[in-house]
Amino acid sequence: MKRVLVLGGTGDGLAIARGLPAGHVYSLAGLGRVPADLACSVRVGGFGGIDGLVRYLRDERIALVVDATHPYAAQMSRHAHAACASAHVPLWAVRRPAWQPQAGDDWRDAPDWRGIVERIGSYRRPLFTLGREPLAHLDEIPASQHWTIRCLDAHPGNARATIVDARGPFDLDGERALFDAAGVDVVISKNSGGRATEAKLAVARERGLAVVMLARPVLPDAHRTFDDAASALDALTHWLHTSEQ
Ligand code: NAP
Repeated sequence: MKRVLVLGGTGDGLAIARGLPAGHVYSLAGLGRVPADLACSVRVGGFGGIDGLVRYLRDERIALVVDATHPYAAQMSRHAHAACASAHVPLWAVRRPAWQPQAGDDWRDAPDWRGIVERIGSYRRPLFTLGREPLAHLDEIPASQHWTIRCLDAHPGNARATIVDARGPFDLDGERALFDAAGVDVVISKNSGGRATEAKLAVARERGLAVVMLARPVLPDAHRTFDDAASALDALTHWLHTSEQ
């Protein structure tokens, strides 16, 4: 049997894993929820860098890797690229197309954390939807600002920061309620693409709020690239069928 390793951590990864029979492997870093209802195996935790992943691919006789990590999980994608090249295992990737600004959007690109801080200097109530990164900067919040930080896990805030632990998908009404409760006057976002977390952009648009968008990392090429889980799963099903004749 040819074994597939799916590198997950996104809804796309989970959708692909749900379509895989027993014998294949779904891998998670261990930051989010671990599904208990999959037919394929689930492994949790890092591989130990590129060398560790090369060993894993050989030990587990993996015949194909599908990188379905988040577009900002660049280290894992780079490691997968290097390890697959070294172990001569083909690499496929799901690369969600980035969101594109629409009429009425006021997006400002930021290359990194420093660029974000510069661009929000004149605002008072930023909403961060970047994951954990702002938590490392709680002591640097200017006296003129109160931050709302949405991330996956509960975390203590402070006098200048409120942490909201929540997982997508998020809808328009929920986002409107959050913007109202937090008095949001600027949004800081990754350009994650996909439907699950895009409602905040629509709410920013309808309220005329600026969105500071963290630049996407440059990801390595893969042998085949898919825009979404459904097309990747179709190709995978076909590949499994033909390679097992
Ligand atoms: P990262 O910086 O690219 O990865 C850090 C390390 O975590 C990797 O070098 C690897 O450790 C381990 N890792 C990451 N994904 C893994 C996987 N699927 N299976 C096994 N080990 C994995 O990524 P991250 O930003 O920490 O993200 C971690 C996970 O959260 C990813 O699966 C990603 O899809 C998901 N996620 C990330 C974001 C984001 O914005 N970064 C957003 C939503 C979800 P070793 O080097 O030891 O192998």
